[in-house]
Amino acid sequence: MAEDGEVRRVGIMGGTFDPVHHGHLVAASEVADRFALDEVVFVPTGQPWQKAGRPVSAAEDRYLMTVIATASNPRFTVSRVDIDRPGPTYAIDTLRDLRAAYGGRTALYFITGADALGRILSWKDSAQVFALAHFVGVTRPGFALSAAHLPADTVSLVQVPAMAISSSDCRARVAAGQPVWYLVPDGVVQYIAKRSLYAGV
Ligand code: ATP
Ligand code: MG
Repeated sequence: MAEDGEVRRVGIMGGTFDPVHHGHLVAASEVADRFALDEVVFVPTGQPWQKAGRPVSAAEDRYLMTVIATASNPRFTVSRVDIDRPGPTYAIDTLRDLRAAYGGRTALYFITGADALGRILSWKDSAQVFALAHFVGVTRPGFALSAAHLPADTVSLVQVPAMAISSSDCRARVAAGQPVWYLVPDGVVQYIAKRSLYAGV
């Protein structure tokens, strides 16, 4: 934990979170433990540029599910920076906004699953994102975890308990009338039902 005058250590867990699931939560928890983070801020995307081909649930629903899922963990918070910024979400903007919000005496750790890490070089201003945060790539079933394509010393790789869960699969399950209990937090199961999300996916 950061004492007075020490650098605060903050993890950033970006995602569409449509819906947030236990794979996201375990990844954040493991990285928080490994890097002695004071906080992990979950940042639901605004309009995700990589998912333009499919409808994404309303930002407010994804934001509220993320709040519900993280509410019981005192070190987990949720930021609205991406959903309140008009236009598509780019990690470079997320990092600049959070850097401005947290100030200079904060070390930022950007957490990504193996699939997202593999695509980083396709991100807008990818060279600059590495200057704004240390990157932490976490294992994800079905994807190879490698930082060979990324600049040296900018990325750490972390093995997390394998959770073969994806939001895509959760949406398909709901659409097919199958359960998502224990794949997502209980409150998120209930929120999906209350708002009739994914019924027609
Ligand atoms: P979708 O199927 O809609 O793409 P998703 O399950 O991949 O959803 P995202 O919101 O796209 O979830 O992912 C946000 C971040 O969490 C990404 O960095 C992704 O790699 C990571 N992530 C998602 N699921 C897992 C998992 N089961 N284990 C580890 N990391 C994960
Ligand atoms: Mg994904």
